Amino acid sequence: MTLALKDATYIDWKTLAFTATHLAVSPGDDGGIEFIDALPSADDLGADDQILDCRHQLVTRAFGCAHHHIYSALARGMPAPAKIPQNFSEILQYIWWHLDKSLNTDMIEASALVSALYCAKNGATFVIDHHASPFAIDDSLETIARAFDRIGISHLLCYEISDRDGEGSKEKGLQEPDSFLSSGRQGHVGLHASFTVGDDLLKRAIDLAHKHDTGLHVHVAEDAVDQDACLKQYNKRVVERYADTGALELSKSIFSHCIHLSEKEKQLLRDSGIYVVQNTESNLNNNVGVTNYRELGDNIILGTDGMHSDMLRSAKAAFLTGQATEGLGMDTVYNRFRKVHDYIRENGFSGDGDNHLVILDYDSPTDINAGNFLGHFVYGIDARHVESVIAGGKLIIENRKLLTMAEDEILAYSREMGRMLWAKMSGDK
Ligand SMILES: [Zn+2]
Repeated sequence: MTLALKDATYIDWKTLAFTATHLAVSPGDDGGIEFIDALPSADDLGADDQILDCRHQLVTRAFGCAHHHIYSALARGMPAPAKIPQNFSEILQYIWWHLDKSLNTDMIEASALVSALYCAKNGATFVIDHHASPFAIDDSLETIARAFDRIGISHLLCYEISDRDGEGSKEKGLQEPDSFLSSGRQGHVGLHASFTVGDDLLKRAIDLAHKHDTGLHVHVAEDAVDQDACLKQYNKRVVERYADTGALELSKSIFSHCIHLSEKEKQLLRDSGIYVVQNTESNLNNNVGVTNYRELGDNIILGTDGMHSDMLRSAKAAFLTGQATEGLGMDTVYNRFRKVHDYIRENGFSGDGDNHLVILDYDSPTDINAGNFLGHFVYGIDARHVESVIAGGKLIIENRKLLTMAEDEILAYSREMGRMLWAKMSGDK
């Protein structure tokens, strides 16, 4: 035993059963937990063993983010772009494609560290990221992976390859996941979106995903512009294009957004079993529309799209917007919040064992139990209640402080890199 939790109230993330117990937490990326009646005596404790007092605290499975963009971490508070974007295409051109082209390796490292820090503090111990840095592609995924490893966050990374920056970026974009995945790291083959991906790139990305037995991670019909471009160029819709090229056979794939789909495309997606990520806050922020995800099947998971690293906040946004779009129940939003664990397990990815836990100091004004947990989940429990976090059986956040690195040094580094990034961007205008 390495870590034991004393006098915890454990909430089973699947059944919502509450159990008053001590817990033994196994080490390792995919370790488990065990209910124990008695704690080891002081004489039996090894030098590395630890007992954490969890009286009056709730313990449950840590969270996962199914679609993140660490590359956007240094955007917060940056100066307005030279031109104010009027639509989604202009948001990409004036803001995100301007920012990602300015990133260098140090900025990527700072973005990954600060994103991982905030994921950890918010209880998300597994992150599926979609990265872009067209002029700093080489080694970008390993840079992010190392940063996440240092903080203690599990990951499934990809580089979002596209044709938007020419042949050189495209070829480097194909090489990066090939070498990253060949090194033994887990991840996806990332693509930006259909409207920036030509047929040669799409075919080669699919081949690469087969080579590494993984899936694609791609933005799908986030805005109507993705469908308009596909209809114009290929005389078919986006999911039809993916179906015709064999992309839907890559069942480990993640399709993010999927807002503007026809009935036929919804059917294709449901039949494929591919997981779809809902990123409500980003969609509202970009004014690209909302959709009824119930029509896309059961494999719906939640992401932040890089806006923040707080999955409890994403779940609340999905619930509230879901009242207008699909009459969403509390049980359904909770299932979407937790479905990411099924995605990771079903597809054989590592780093999300039962020994990833959050310890909540939840100052509930009313009783909380298995019968009313969902009401507390939607209306009460939020990131400020995350007191401690265990990842892979190891305590990484204790009393809201990061244990694995110096938090103030990460923030000083990210602020320094943020200043450099903004200066570079304003110089490039
Ligand atoms: Zn995204």
